[in-house]
Amino acid sequence: MPPKSLKCKECQTEYPLEALYACSNCFGPLEVSYESFSGRDPEELKRRIQAGPNTLWRYADFLPVQRPPSGALPTGMTPLIRAERLGKELGIYELWIKSETSNPTHSFKDRVVAVAMARGLELGFDTFACASTGNLANAVAAHAAAAGVPAYVFIPSDLEREKITATAIHGARVIAVNGTYDQVNRLCSEVANERPWAFVNVNLRPYYAEGSKTLAYEVAEQLGWRLPNHVVAPVASGSLHTRIGKAFDEWRECGLVDGPLPSMHGAQAAGCSPVASAFADGEDFCRPVKPDTIARSLAIGDPADGPFALELARRTGGAIESASDDEIREGISLLAKTTGVFTETAGGVTVAVLKKLAERGAFGPGESVVATITGDGLKTPDAISDLVQVDEVEATLEAFEAIESLEVTA
Ligand SMILES: *Cc1c(COP(=O)(O)O)cnc(C)c1O
Ligand SMILES: [Zn+2]
Repeated sequence: MPPKSLKCKECQTEYPLEALYACSNCFGPLEVSYESFSGRDPEELKRRIQAGPNTLWRYADFLPVQRPPSGALPTGMTPLIRAERLGKELGIYELWIKSETSNPTHSFKDRVVAVAMARGLELGFDTFACASTGNLANAVAAHAAAAGVPAYVFIPSDLEREKITATAIHGARVIAVNGTYDQVNRLCSEVANERPWAFVNVNLRPYYAEGSKTLAYEVAEQLGWRLPNHVVAPVASGSLHTRIGKAFDEWRECGLVDGPLPSMHGAQAAGCSPVASAFADGEDFCRPVKPDTIARSLAIGDPADGPFALELARRTGGAIESASDDEIREGISLLAKTTGVFTETAGGVTVAVLKKLAERGAFGPGESVVATITGDGLKTPDAISDLVQVDEVEATLEAFEAIESLEVTA
């Protein structure tokens, strides 16, 4: 399925596959469009995928890169874990956790950077940059180091220390901007006009978005070429949520999977929930907000793909819900205690919304649910420091025996 063009999502005008991201007719967002996905033998496609590398490049037939790069950080093929205990706790028949913590920089952002950077290098860029809520900075810095190209990352100055450290150590230039992510993003659009840099989520955004699709391909392949009934995914800009839908649609068109699209549920933090609010109010557009939440990686107040996420959730019978900071912390703790997976705050948002949906009866008897856990808990330890308890004792048997209760709350 060779990529054909960049196409405006609003007015369908087509553009060449270059570093472009907005339609010059209507300012709508551009998206990669491909030659038709139908008419290929699905068994042959399956064999090509299975014979590919154990990374997201096994799906190269569905990506806008001519040749998978050599020497890139191995990204993707993260585990899909059957969460029996959490499923039982929440009354979900078949629950799966897609754990993105095992990517090279411990979040799903490695996928979007792998694809955007590969395309950027093909287009001849030699300097990479991004506007980031944290994880993207981390991924751009690491992948640039592996490729031996300089990186400039722009972040809001109040980001978690752990994410800043894990970025700067790779030699990236970190520019901490006094402002919100939305202000950082606006600044980057201006810088992108001035300098010949590849901003992975600004002028390479159409290619960046394609990287998110690989999470969905993996889920379908790992389920045995089958779609789940429901997916719960966090929503920041709405790119991941909507590209999971795009990926499943492409594979339905190819005949690699059949059946309807899963119900596509979205999860936001209550302190930054423009999409969940619009969903609740029955609106087609999102009113921008000023974020105030512990889920920093989801703190985008003016989400570019918000309207498309609303449309996808409604079309598939999904919902977009929000969770408070306390519910996010409880979600992190619940996931850790029942599955052994420690997630950052964004995953806490997903689990908290998963729980709400389950309690509301959104998942029918016998239905399968995939919850996407998009980042590692070691990135945001301060968020849950109040929840963890340690007993400190002197090194004597008496001191140990004197601990009041040794019960474990599992
Ligand atoms: C970036 C990010 C997301 C989703 O972002 P979108 O902009 O909606 O694609 C989800 N979880 C984590 C941990 C992230 O870093
Ligand atoms: Zn247009």
